[in-house]
Amino acid sequence: MTERMQKFVSLGQNWPEKRSATERAGDFHEIHRAFIAEKAAAQAARCAQCGVPFCQTHCPLQNNIPDWLRLTAEGRLLEAYEASAVTNPMPEICGRICPQDRLCEGACVIEQSGHGAVTIGAVEKYLTDTAWREGWVAPIKPRGERRESIGVVGAGPAGLAAAERLRLRGYKVTVYDRHDRIGGLLVYGIPNFKLEKEVVERRSQRLIDGGVKFELNCNVGETISFVELRQRHDAALIATGVYKARPLTAPHDQSVVAALDYLIASNRVGLGDDVPEFASGALDAKDRRVVVIGGGDTAMDCVRTARRQGAKSVTCLYRRDRANMPGSQREAGHAEEEGVGFDWLAAPKSVSKGAVRAARMQLGPPDASGRQTPEEQPNSAYEAPADLVIAALGFDAEDLSGWGVATTRWGTLKVNPLTYATNLPGVFAAGDIVRGASLVVWAIREGRDAADAMHAWIQENAKVAAE
Ligand code: FAD
Ligand code: SF4
Ligand code: SF4
Repeated sequence: MTERMQKFVSLGQNWPEKRSATERAGDFHEIHRAFIAEKAAAQAARCAQCGVPFCQTHCPLQNNIPDWLRLTAEGRLLEAYEASAVTNPMPEICGRICPQDRLCEGACVIEQSGHGAVTIGAVEKYLTDTAWREGWVAPIKPRGERRESIGVVGAGPAGLAAAERLRLRGYKVTVYDRHDRIGGLLVYGIPNFKLEKEVVERRSQRLIDGGVKFELNCNVGETISFVELRQRHDAALIATGVYKARPLTAPHDQSVVAALDYLIASNRVGLGDDVPEFASGALDAKDRRVVVIGGGDTAMDCVRTARRQGAKSVTCLYRRDRANMPGSQREAGHAEEEGVGFDWLAAPKSVSKGAVRAARMQLGPPDASGRQTPEEQPNSAYEAPADLVIAALGFDAEDLSGWGVATTRWGTLKVNPLTYATNLPGVFAAGDIVRGASLVVWAIREGRDAADAMHAWIQENAKVAAE
């Protein structure tokens, strides 16, 4: 190990400069400025180069984190970037939006020993942003052209990771998506202040330049049937994500807005589209008192978007306490800094235009999953005035049973966990449609591994046909 490493003893944890809360609440740009080279190298040098790197085991992609941290500390940035790109087709995206506190950084031994984790995500982002700037991100060059073609349904991270991997192997790949842009939730769900659209667009353009074909505005099941899609290709991957919003169970009127409708409208406005529901004010928080119901990452994105749209006030209503929220603590911290109010241990009893009637909760005994159950405190009802109420209660799978694929009782697709194969020959599935609402890094992992399994299946089929 070089003497450059293990600097955590003398050097504290530090992130790239974060813009002030006032400045960032006034625009939709990412909240951190870029790392400067010296700082990235110094932060990477804090790594202890563990023999058993828990950061790596807690990264869904099993990234070779200690290696690229060491190379960064040594100033060998091209090699560091190449090492990070071996396992991850979109390192700069994961570096921006992985909940690192729950993954690699949460498991870093330095974090566990109280020194503050190595800022792995920020270094990963820095490396690949540098690679793009310096022209090190190589075009996709297939190892030779193959005659087989693959259809991928869904241009989100799972579909894109699979498309890249398959194209590199020389397959003809067509990705179908019902939206008009490539990226899935990377473009239409996740707001710019976490992930600017250009970062996704340059990845999409690289796929197009590498020969991946995209059929956009194509809703499989309506524009073409899944049967027809299968006939067009030798194998197919379903990577359609999960989009059925969980409903608010408390009585409510039509004024409640679904989180994803709200976020898609905001993202479209940012992309320069005409959005009538935004122009009419229905999906614009400007000058309104906004209440967002839910405590996950989608809720955090809604409250922070509302702040940037110029809401009069923004409150997040969540039935458990902060320690038990499903969303990232870091994101909640950003929201608090930006002036979002949190009403913890509060649940809606009814919602109508103008007000949310809510009750105070307390945490009771743990349920079967071990989580404490929220219980209503007697005589604790109160009213929160609201001109815009957004429900962010999670997502379930849409009904794909008409496609002939076997589903679980939650509506997600049943696959062989090792091969990603569904019950239909030559049909594979990956991403949220398999795991349920999850994370970008898991979608990438599954797309990557499903592509390898599809290749193995095609090879095996060819062998059998030749015998
Ligand atoms: P998706 O990204 O959902 O892509 C699926 C694609 O399939 C879509 O483009 C859709 O249009 C298309 N499609 C669906 N049905 C059809 C059909 N019938 N025909 C054609 N196309 C179809 N994860 C993180 O790691 N970090 C975050 O900060 C984060 N923030 C999030 C914020 C929000 C608001 C949301 C909703 C999710 C967030 N996630 C985050 C989760 C993450 O976005 C998902 O886990 C990930 O995008 C799943 O990838 P996927 O490829 O499986 O599906
Ligand atoms: Fe950490 Fe995500 Fe990067 Fe893995 S992909 S190293 S979990 S930021
Ligand atoms: Fe370095 Fe932390 Fe990973 Fe150990 S766990 S190798 S200190 S980043």
